[in-house]
Amino acid sequence: MTPHETLEQIAEDAMAWRRQIHEHPELLFDLPKTSALVAEKLRQFECDEVVTRIAQSGVVGVIRGRLGSGRTIALRADMDALPMSEQTNLPYASKVPNMMHACGHDGHTAMLLAAARHLAAHRDFAGTVVLVFQPAEEGGAGGRKMIEEGLLERFGIDEVFGMHNEPGLPVGSFATRPGAILAAGDRFMVALSGRGGHAAEPHRTPDPVLASAHLVTALQSIASRYTDPFDPVVVSVTYMECGSRTALNVIPASINIGGTIRTVDPQTRKSVEARFREIVSMTGKLFGLEAEIDWRPGYPVTVNDPEMTAAAIAAASSVAGAERVDGNCPRTMGSEDFSYMLEKRPGAFIWIGNGDSAGLHHPAYDFNDDAIIHGLRYWVSLVDQRLK
Ligand SMILES: [Zn+2]
Ligand SMILES: [Zn+2]
Repeated sequence: MTPHETLEQIAEDAMAWRRQIHEHPELLFDLPKTSALVAEKLRQFECDEVVTRIAQSGVVGVIRGRLGSGRTIALRADMDALPMSEQTNLPYASKVPNMMHACGHDGHTAMLLAAARHLAAHRDFAGTVVLVFQPAEEGGAGGRKMIEEGLLERFGIDEVFGMHNEPGLPVGSFATRPGAILAAGDRFMVALSGRGGHAAEPHRTPDPVLASAHLVTALQSIASRYTDPFDPVVVSVTYMECGSRTALNVIPASINIGGTIRTVDPQTRKSVEARFREIVSMTGKLFGLEAEIDWRPGYPVTVNDPEMTAAAIAAASSVAGAERVDGNCPRTMGSEDFSYMLEKRPGAFIWIGNGDSAGLHHPAYDFNDDAIIHGLRYWVSLVDQRLK
């Protein structure tokens, strides 16, 4: 490795790493190949510290600047893939059945490795850069696990930054916003239980089917009547299971209903859950049924700190030009595990353009290698912004 190496040369190599990771996708916390590749590269680049096995397969690299002491900032990438079959027909398509890098975490990992190589070779900053490669972003809360295992204290992290690709946003463009940028995604299962009976004698049997029809409608009032219209809330009932198609003359004993609730304000998230519980239990009472709620909290709201977001916008603008940076992009109702880090430390999450690709989690999706150079430049510029 040489300090004279250009960012373009590094990006070229990072493309090869990206495709290698893409060919061998791994899931959740079980990332032996990916984390070994990451740790090996970080050692090659001569990071001051390389720590493995945080949250099972998480990897951390530490690079100290040569311009003295200063803050410690964490740059984070996720490494895990999804349990789905790839349909891209690419030469470097997944070699593992039913596993695929359909969210671009292969690209995120490659971009952060590329930044590590440059930063370790130059070190022209004051303070410390901590490179965080996390497992299990896709539903396993790997970021939360790393925090539980002491990530933030152990490395003295003051600020946190994350980046995710966005299909539809042109390559070379960036988008972010201060405040909530992604939603909290909670899930629920509800069981309404009676005792079942003859469908010709409805007066003798509490009816979970009728109750559930009222419940689905009433739950929509959480978003439409109970919440400020300028505070987005999504309630989606996505699952119902009851009765038997061979017993149409039977009122079933119970019904199971499931779905997801999305909110973008941490306070609203709490009040919406409380309202949800009230509606379910009162609907149960109204129709003479037992109501049981299994509330499954998902990732919290991803909230960008205003000052850190300004730094992220400045870094992105310096590499992309201000006209290609949207500093007040729309929120989306998806959710991100990076939210746990943003709950503990100020920081910012930014979208990087993936161009005209298939959408995230689509079988034809592929991370756009042309984005690597832009992501690399962003990370380098951000370190420059924060650790002058
Ligand atoms: Zn994803
Ligand atoms: Zn993702």
